[in-house]
Amino acid sequence: MTNQEKSIIIIGAGAAGLAAGIYGQMNGYKTNIFEMHNIPGGLSTAWKRKGYTFDGGMDWIVGIDPKMEEHLIWRELGALKGKKVAFYDELFRIKDREGKICTFYADPKKFEEELSQFTSYGEDLKKIKHLCKSIGRFSKAPSFSYKKPENLYGFFDKLAVMLKFLPYMGILTKYNGVMISDFAKEFRDPRLREIISYIFYNPDIAYSVFPPLFTLANMYNKNAGYPEGGALGLGKSFEARYKELGGQVEYEKRVKKIIVKDNRAIGILLADGTEHFADIVISACDGRTTIYDLLEGKYLNDDINRMYKEATVHPSMVRVFLGVNQDFKNEPHTAIYLKDKPVEVSGLISKNQNSILVRHYCHTEPSYSPSGKSVLTSFFIANYDEWKELYKDRERYKKEKEKVADIVIEHLEQTYPGIRKKIEYVDVSTPVTIERYTGNYKGSIMGWIATSEIDVWSKRVGMTLSNLDNFYMIGQWVVYGGVIRVVGSGRFVIQMQCDKDQKKFATMLD
Ligand SMILES: Cc1cc2nc3c(=O)[nH]c(=O)nc-3n(C[C@H](O)[C@H](O)[C@H](O)COP(=O)(O)OP(=O)(O)OC[C@H]3O[C@@H](n4cnc5c(N)ncnc54)[C@H](O)[C@@H]3O)c2cc1C
Repeated sequence: MTNQEKSIIIIGAGAAGLAAGIYGQMNGYKTNIFEMHNIPGGLSTAWKRKGYTFDGGMDWIVGIDPKMEEHLIWRELGALKGKKVAFYDELFRIKDREGKICTFYADPKKFEEELSQFTSYGEDLKKIKHLCKSIGRFSKAPSFSYKKPENLYGFFDKLAVMLKFLPYMGILTKYNGVMISDFAKEFRDPRLREIISYIFYNPDIAYSVFPPLFTLANMYNKNAGYPEGGALGLGKSFEARYKELGGQVEYEKRVKKIIVKDNRAIGILLADGTEHFADIVISACDGRTTIYDLLEGKYLNDDINRMYKEATVHPSMVRVFLGVNQDFKNEPHTAIYLKDKPVEVSGLISKNQNSILVRHYCHTEPSYSPSGKSVLTSFFIANYDEWKELYKDRERYKKEKEKVADIVIEHLEQTYPGIRKKIEYVDVSTPVTIERYTGNYKGSIMGWIATSEIDVWSKRVGMTLSNLDNFYMIGQWVVYGGVIRVVGSGRFVIQMQCDKDQKKFATMLD
């Protein structure tokens, strides 16, 4: 058989699976994607209700700036072609209990001035200066490269990467090594301490300071933005590109098992009982399902066991979506309100939730609501186990969802009197919703929490499993989440297969 005729089955039409399909088609493989849902995109999704579109999977993507090396991947995937991109001047505004507003500007100078108003302590001012200077400096950093997977790096590739990031290692090490909660505690002014603890929206996720620093730097240099069409628009663009290249995707086909013969993956068994065979199988769906269910836990090793037992799963969310007959275009796109009393929402990670976030899309994607109206959303970091328990009693589950929506609506009514009457549609999604629609473990929205530890583990586990040939895993459980990272894994997997087949990896631009 020639390489040109090799076939690949891909499990899952999320961003990672579709990207693998696109690169597979570009390289002469005959690919076929099996997806359990009836639309592409996986977590990168949205749904329409009564003229409103609720985006369930994206706030921004990085790699927008054509000068950045990583932008190439969007060109190859045809993801941004002809699309306008909305940029952010600020991450959000936070209103404290005395009504004072602090804007988290992307511009580091403005951010420094803003934060400095909240303290008169010299140590605090020094820390603010260092943080903002680091944002400014990091905004000049080169981007990650998706040109080649690390396991295909030679000595000079490794050296080039090292030299490229060497000037930024100080920032990376300092801010990656400190958790937001600990960093916030370093400030002397109590009000500033609290505000800083929100630097990545919610103090209850165990992030280091690096992700918000990275995000602000990328917003400042206009490398992060919201492409027209949002999350589902991206999924649809990937699907269109894939089909244009001759790829096949079959929806409403749940994979039940990966068929293995003599320690080689040879095909899949679907829930409808049919079997499908190929030379190579790539799983682009939930990692735990792949390893422990589809492969029945037969291809484990210490690294996998450890990672799946000990690594921190990125928590899920409970989200309220509202279609409102009121124009929010002059309001901040994202506002966080600190509350006097804890917000009593069921099933949250925090037992002391004392803020409510409100976001609208009038700036990023006006088409999400009819003219003069708005989509509003609010989210809380949720405890999957509690929502799963509630889901066993559908009446209670429904009531708790209504309660969360009421809390958000009550808050809005206090902030925008009269708005309650203008609400035309209410929808609530929970960790169980995410699990049901995408199969992600505990309804995780990003796979693992990005830490330096998971960086090491995910590299050690990699995309292949020991003793199982013709098989790969990609997506957010392999490289952890974020659309650009998972599509990068789709590129890498085909590069690895091309390398194995001793053929030159080829791409095409949109
Ligand atoms: C609320 C939210 C906000 C986010 N914000 C951002 C953001 O601002 N920027 C950013 O870059 N990223 C963001 N993300 C993360 C990003 O959306 C994900 O990391 C990324 O889309 C994951 O892609 P994936 O292909 O790895 O996995 P998934 O999207 O989970 O795709 C897996 C696919 O496999 C299918 N599947 C599962 N099991 C089976 C089976 N047995 N048989 C067949 N098919 C199966 C699923 O239906 C799904 O379509 C956000 C996610 C969420 C939910």
